[in-house]
Amino acid sequence: MQQGSINVQTENIFPIIKKFLYSDHEIFLRELVSNAVDATQKVKTLNGLGELQSTTEDLKVEVILNKEAKTLTVRDNGIGMTGEELEKYINQIAFSGAEEFVEKYKDAEGSQAIIGHFGLGFYSAFMVAEKVEIFTKSHREGSEAVRWECDGSPNYSMETIEKDTLGTDIVLHIAEDSEEFLEDQRVSGILNKYCKFMPVSIQYGTRTEQIDSPEGELDEKGEIKKESIEVPNIINNPNPAWMKKPVDLKEEDYKDFYRELYPMNFEDPMFHIHLNVDFPFNLTGVLYFPRLKKQMDMQKNRIHLYSNQVFITDNVENIVPEFLTLLHGVIDSPDIPLNVSRSYLQEDGNVKKISAHISKKVSDKLNGMFKENRSDFEEKWDDLKVFAEYGMLTDEKFYDRAKFALYKTTKGEYFTFDELKEKIKVNQTDKNGKIVVLYTPDAEAHHAYIEQMEERAYEVLHLDGPLVSHLMTKLEGKDSEVQFKRVDADVADRLIEKEDALPSKLSKEQEETLQPVIEEVLNNKNYQVKFASMSPSENPVVITQSEFMRRMKEQQQAGGGGMQMFGEMPDTYEMTINANHALVEKIVEESDLEKKKNMIKQATDLARLSQGLLKGEALTSFVKRSIELIN
Ligand code: ADP
Repeated sequence: MQQGSINVQTENIFPIIKKFLYSDHEIFLRELVSNAVDATQKVKTLNGLGELQSTTEDLKVEVILNKEAKTLTVRDNGIGMTGEELEKYINQIAFSGAEEFVEKYKDAEGSQAIIGHFGLGFYSAFMVAEKVEIFTKSHREGSEAVRWECDGSPNYSMETIEKDTLGTDIVLHIAEDSEEFLEDQRVSGILNKYCKFMPVSIQYGTRTEQIDSPEGELDEKGEIKKESIEVPNIINNPNPAWMKKPVDLKEEDYKDFYRELYPMNFEDPMFHIHLNVDFPFNLTGVLYFPRLKKQMDMQKNRIHLYSNQVFITDNVENIVPEFLTLLHGVIDSPDIPLNVSRSYLQEDGNVKKISAHISKKVSDKLNGMFKENRSDFEEKWDDLKVFAEYGMLTDEKFYDRAKFALYKTTKGEYFTFDELKEKIKVNQTDKNGKIVVLYTPDAEAHHAYIEQMEERAYEVLHLDGPLVSHLMTKLEGKDSEVQFKRVDADVADRLIEKEDALPSKLSKEQEETLQPVIEEVLNNKNYQVKFASMSPSENPVVITQSEFMRRMKEQQQAGGGGMQMFGEMPDTYEMTINANHALVEKIVEESDLEKKKNMIKQATDLARLSQGLLKGEALTSFVKRSIELIN
């Protein structure tokens, strides 16, 4: 037997490995299984080169749990290691990898700074094992089998043994504080998470399957009798959709793969994009567009990041642009560095290129769908909108490419922004030369306003969702010709001011005398009183909310813009008095001040009531006053 000491400076690195990987102990199994997968694949490659005499049939990896013995074994019939190779790869290289890792991260600001998913490799076994044994026999002709053992101290022992089969068994003697890894559920959970699409079959125990009885016997009902047999429980699909060529896949295959990825999800995605790049970086994957509706919080089915079919994480923040995290699916790239902090990732050249590529693919796909079948695209738009808007707001290049972005009118028609401008240019340009885009977030609530717009043959957009006010500000910033106004932002004729305004029946003096009386009656500084020369058939008092103030408030609520520091903004309204209404004329002419104030009170309360702004005591006294009036 050979005894030795692993060449280390650090006295004992294992406690440090444990500490740093604390939250992520489970990845040891991923590391060992992917080593085993690599070893089996090497057999294939070397056989292809004619270097080995052995067979490549039935290559597989097996994970074996033995609760009594408190061991977890990862077995492969892969390339194996000779004594020399063990010395080189395990005692020297693997160890120096582990040591380098510790050197690099022992001063990092806590494990938060580390992505938490890196190839620490073989030595991660010591996160959960008090002792590790390796039994291995190389495929190379004339090799002797070797047993290696280490208890986590820098000392190991090695001896030649008898071993019938080629390949490697890694046996972990699970430590007392890690006994969770002796639970069947826990182990199968980890395998399902990290190894589900690894490229070699992975067996974990057996499962019972019902098959037709081989003799073809019939049961009482005349059906062929079933027999239970034990079959290997293969936990992975070694050939997942994203590794195949798009031409070899049908629509249904993509849907099946979606269900394979998210077994708990019952809604099919709308469509997908198959990514396939090998220059200047490697990237494969399938991204799915879920139906997004209004909610932004679609985090339950997250994009899974793989590296050569090994699951890395489902937290792809900072790896893909934020808006793309709303998508589902798989990205597989060996070119994304895994052992660096997330903030550093954003600066990584490959990550930037990959992000830009995905963003371009997504906009190309949407433009393609838009051109190919517009009516179908319009049907999907409501479910796509939040995603597209998010992209337009956060990714400048995506914005520039988003020719497909649609705007829906209250009549249910869809226009691109250019089409819309063309359509409304003549009728909705105000006296200052601005094209006024009218919109409502809620056609029901704004019914009365929209009617006013329709009378004037104006188009009204139906814009809703959490990003709308940011998007409008963005569009206005990009195109100084247009201005968005919500239908209730002012009285109809002032939303789009034309040269030929109606003459006012009130003189300047009359307005100036009346204004302070109204303000006194209102006694509320959140209402700003003003006069407008409106049609006599419109209401005497109209309440509106200024576009600017409302949008500020919405943006504050949606977050962003750095406006939080001003605290919650109050709702402020404009109370517009229709100078041409008969009731206003009566109020002006009324000489009894008490009566005048009562009329004002009643008229302004009615306006507030119509906007749902009359509440509490104000509402109670309005009702009382109204009853007295009828009496
Ligand atoms: P990495 O896999 O990143 O190279 P590891 O520490 O996991 O680092 O492993 C070090 C080396 O040990 C591997 O490169 C490989 O040569 C060898 N090795 C590990 N596990 C096996 C195995 N199951 N069969 C054959 N060789 C192995």
